[in-house]
Amino acid sequence: MKSAWVERDAEDAIDRYAARGIARELALRVYSTRLLGRERNLVLHGGGNTSLKGTARDLSGAETDVLYVKGSGRDMGAIEPDRMPAVRLAPLRALRGRDALDVNEMARVQRGFLIDPLAPSPSVEMLLHAFLPARFIDHTHATAVLSLIDQPDSERLCAEVYGGRMGFVPYRMPGFGLAKLAAEIFDKDPSVEGLILDKHGLFTFGESARESYERMIETVTLAEQPLAKGRKSVFATAALPARIAAITEIAPILRGVCSLRDAFGEGAHRRMILNFRASETILNYVNGEEVARYARAGTITPDHVIRVKPWPLIVPAPEAGQLDAFRERAQAAAERFIADYKSYFERNKAREPGARMHDPLPRVALVPGLGLFGMGESMKEAAIAADVAEAAAEGITGAEAIGRFTSIAETDLFDCEYWSLELAKLNARPRPPLAGQVAVITGAGGAIGAATARAFAQAGAAVALLDLDLKAAQEKAQAIGGAALGLSCDVTDASSVQAAFDAVVAAFGGVDILVSNAGAAWQGKIGEVDEAILRKSFELNFFAHQKVAQAAVKIMRRQGTGGCLLFNISKQAVNPGPDFGPYGLPKAATLFLMRQYALDHGADGIRANGVNADRIRSGLLTGDFIAARAKARGVSEKDYMSGNLLGHEVTADDVAQAFLAQALALKTTGSVTTVDGGNIAAALR
Ligand SMILES: [Zn+2]
Repeated sequence: MKSAWVERDAEDAIDRYAARGIARELALRVYSTRLLGRERNLVLHGGGNTSLKGTARDLSGAETDVLYVKGSGRDMGAIEPDRMPAVRLAPLRALRGRDALDVNEMARVQRGFLIDPLAPSPSVEMLLHAFLPARFIDHTHATAVLSLIDQPDSERLCAEVYGGRMGFVPYRMPGFGLAKLAAEIFDKDPSVEGLILDKHGLFTFGESARESYERMIETVTLAEQPLAKGRKSVFATAALPARIAAITEIAPILRGVCSLRDAFGEGAHRRMILNFRASETILNYVNGEEVARYARAGTITPDHVIRVKPWPLIVPAPEAGQLDAFRERAQAAAERFIADYKSYFERNKAREPGARMHDPLPRVALVPGLGLFGMGESMKEAAIAADVAEAAAEGITGAEAIGRFTSIAETDLFDCEYWSLELAKLNARPRPPLAGQVAVITGAGGAIGAATARAFAQAGAAVALLDLDLKAAQEKAQAIGGAALGLSCDVTDASSVQAAFDAVVAAFGGVDILVSNAGAAWQGKIGEVDEAILRKSFELNFFAHQKVAQAAVKIMRRQGTGGCLLFNISKQAVNPGPDFGPYGLPKAATLFLMRQYALDHGADGIRANGVNADRIRSGLLTGDFIAARAKARGVSEKDYMSGNLLGHEVTADDVAQAFLAQALALKTTGSVTTVDGGNIAAALR
């Protein structure tokens, strides 16, 4: 591993933070913490921590000795000084005299000595930093070091690699006990440059930020050397089918078997978003003959267990053309996983009184021949799980190259997974109503499509925005942020629709909700209109709805967890306007298309509903058009747009909320919601 320290950048950080009144040492502490946090082979997602011993003024203005330590669960790569809370050092050190500190006391200690009472909670490893004397302390879960210490004879290996430069601390769960043990081991030989924490990670010390950082890099580099020597084709590969099925075929099946039927009421499944990864290392790892042994032996460092559970799901290699057989075997594997997880919880629950079992679904699936999937209720969680799984593939490969991968005991894994202080890292927020669901919106570059995508994303869905205009789709997706995906799609072209749905499945694992919204208006007096115009309108305003609905239903049936088809119809379907036949006729057919889907696929758990909206500012009803119509009728634009029973203009957001309500109404199918401010002639009977 190469040092990323750049003296100029360090000086820049000092200047930048000085302007905000931050002292030089803390500025450097932030600078090197960020360097460590940006290296994924050192720490992942809120793991790891750093500290600095210095002084700070408390609220009374008195200067006092403090420990600046990373806030719990904060990402080191993006740390800022206000995320490194200052804690009074003297009372923390005094705690070393105690024999024990239970979890409730520990939670109070975490906040009890903060200089700023509103600061974030410090890391759970704060006491370890406080009990050691070094000014700067860095802690990571470096993958290469884990390969060395996740071994039965880790102490001997460390002695070989580091001589006496690093102290060796046997495994102990993070918290008071570990802090005390580490300090005792340090006291026996204060000349060490750092401490190895068996089966967990490492600490390095320094009198300057740079010294502590460079020692971290050097310690990791020394671990990399023996691993590189033993690294030639680590795993003997199992026999695999000659042709492996495509990820777009496999992901929906996996999503289906890794769901919980009726978890939140009848028809309300717990679903997850999938994030796929493959690389040479991952494939060698998942294809290994002994994958069930080394991949199920536990996590590479304790705090990963809160992200990926103690072990992954392993399914058989999927043979191309044999999807039914794959589904059956994957289903059996998932059921076994759930049963194993439940009995693991039952075996250990007495260790954490009052603990409630997390959902028993896997967070990582290994698929020989294909790669691995991270899973979570949001794309963010799925990607974190996939990152942790990739680190495991890397770390376990390294461990097996020089010995045999060994994790902590099951009881230790359970203690970490259900330790309330670790769980605080996940800062549980209320579960959004569409968590774990994937929504595809067509015509999403336009006003109604974009508003709908935004509403669904806010409700927790992973959204894919499809539009003929790729740039518009990408811009709207970017405005939503997060995992929102902008894709080009000509909904009148079967191959374009197939490609777009394949891309959605590759990105999120499947599809649960379709909002078939793309449309355009054609006009003409019906007795005179050119048949070509009528056919063109039918292509977009009827057949395209059928194309995207069929593509979505195919995926939904593969998942086997129901689904929801939503159609943007139009009031024209029931209340034709003069000369609007070319638009209204295919929309009337689409109204019946919706009903046919409700009828034919209700047994699959797939609901179909539609929205009849009218007079919405959009690509169909532009500012110029509105001005012209208002003028023609001799009314103001405002009066024209509010010409309905309620006297209010109807907006794209109103339509979006109607679609969202339909997506959430689990017992409603075959229905039309009217969003037009009230037009009794268009009311459905
Ligand atoms: Zn740690």
